[in-house]
Amino acid sequence: MSGQKRIAIIGGGVAGLSAGIYAQLHGFHTAIYEKNDVPGGACTGWTSDGLPVEGSLRFLAGTAEDTPLYHCWDEVGALRDTLFVNPDSFYTVEDSGETIEFCQDIDRFCSHAEKISPEDGTLLHRFRDTVLKVQGYVLPAEKPADLLGPLESRHANAVNGEAARMLARLHNVSASYFAEQFHHPALRCAFRNIMPPGSTLAQLVLCYAQFIDGSLAVPVGGSQKIIRQMVDFYLANDGELQLNAPVKEIIAANSAARGIILENGERILTHWVIAACDPEYTCRVLLQDRYSMEKKLQMRFSAPEKYRTCSVVRLFFSAPVDSVPLARTLSFPTDVIPAAGEGIGRLRVVQYGDDPLFVHNGRTELTADVPMPGRRAFQYWDKLFAHREAYEAEIDRLEGAVQLALEKRFPEMKGSLQYLGCHTPVTYAQRLNSYHGSCTAFLPTSHAPRSAMLTGRLPGLEKLLLTGQWLGEIAGMHTALIQGKFTVERICHDERLLW
Ligand SMILES: Cc1cc2nc3c(=O)[nH]c(=O)nc-3n(C[C@H](O)[C@H](O)[C@H](O)COP(=O)(O)OP(=O)(O)OC[C@H]3O[C@@H](n4cnc5c(N)ncnc54)[C@H](O)[C@@H]3O)c2cc1C
Repeated sequence: MSGQKRIAIIGGGVAGLSAGIYAQLHGFHTAIYEKNDVPGGACTGWTSDGLPVEGSLRFLAGTAEDTPLYHCWDEVGALRDTLFVNPDSFYTVEDSGETIEFCQDIDRFCSHAEKISPEDGTLLHRFRDTVLKVQGYVLPAEKPADLLGPLESRHANAVNGEAARMLARLHNVSASYFAEQFHHPALRCAFRNIMPPGSTLAQLVLCYAQFIDGSLAVPVGGSQKIIRQMVDFYLANDGELQLNAPVKEIIAANSAARGIILENGERILTHWVIAACDPEYTCRVLLQDRYSMEKKLQMRFSAPEKYRTCSVVRLFFSAPVDSVPLARTLSFPTDVIPAAGEGIGRLRVVQYGDDPLFVHNGRTELTADVPMPGRRAFQYWDKLFAHREAYEAEIDRLEGAVQLALEKRFPEMKGSLQYLGCHTPVTYAQRLNSYHGSCTAFLPTSHAPRSAMLTGRLPGLEKLLLTGQWLGEIAGMHTALIQGKFTVERICHDERLLW
């Protein structure tokens, strides 16, 4: 360790682990300080009475071999010996007596949808052609744009050619606007619901294209296995992981970060600090508002109409494996379910029965999501939480209504559903210190400027870099992974070390 530069990493989520691994591999000595008693952050899973429970992951991007993103997952040891499940359908929607499946075979999707609504044929074929053209799109994962030389930039822009130009055009169209162009209510409903509210058509087309080309799939073993493998790899490379170690403050002096202070008062002096936790929390709490984020990141926080945050109330159940829906993800209409002071008439459920590691004693996990968009929903849950009984009562009410809805849609589940627990926006805010209790980072809408390049640097403060899902164009575990890597590339650049 003598002579090695030391880096303190705040947060042991995917981004913190990724940064830790890449930094260890490039000759630094790192320690990750994680506030919770388990690593993983938002990417989490646990076991309940022998049944593995997935807390977040539905699909992982970067699962197609021979792509730069897969290569990154491989470099951090996350997908060693991992098999993938490729569900038949990316998303299945029931509405108006019809079932719309966004299936692996896009021709099957198209011909089925056209049979339901012949007058939507032209639009469906245009959608199909667009998705096929975007297949094979390569997510940039090798070098951050701010470190690319002019030739490298030109090369990077050329890699995706027509697909990139197509996505740039679709970025200006919202998925919900596109949905409204369909004549048939079931198709309108399907295209409106497949992505979170506010998504662009570009996000929808890219996700479906990735699903078809195999670069979006389900890793067997889910979040728990990915994190376990990353942690093992980090420790095997002499990284240091401290759990139950909340950071209270970042030490800053003479325009540079000098280390961190833990909640227990311990001061740790380092050459660099990487904040792999929420950037708003980092600036407001850990830096006590003395430094601001770079302008382009600040702008995202101050323009909620362009950059949406969203969260979810996720209810976890176990159910007999032969009673769960065939589709991995299914959205279906329900009687009105009261949620955050409003009512919703549709549920999204995810079942895990097609992953053999998620089946125990003939049962599997079934999650039901009640979407909670943005700040207002967070304030609703946060206010309730101040009166713990009211908070618990609201969860009980929601759980009862969701269970009834499930039993109505799947009568074979009656009497055999078992409630395992619930996450609300307050859970994400308290557990992860995440902005407005968001479960993922910003969702850029069609009004947001395209791909503002973020660096994670703070004007006026050196030796500190922000990293994590909030710096990417779109949230997700793959973004956290890439941003962790990019952060270490920036440090190597500043330290004049070869990458
Ligand atoms: C319900 C849900 C479903 C999701 N579904 C998917 C999906 O299907 N596919 C996908 O790719 N992504 C999905 N995601 C998103 C994905 O999990 C995240 O984008 C990713 O895990 C974020 O990683 P991160 O490291 O950037 O941030 P985080 O995971 O938030 O990590 C930040 C870490 O910092 C720690 N921390 C915070 N403050 C401190 C402090 N003061 N001191 C020490 N530690 C601190 C936190 O405890 C946390 O561990 C989902 C997320 C949720 C919640």
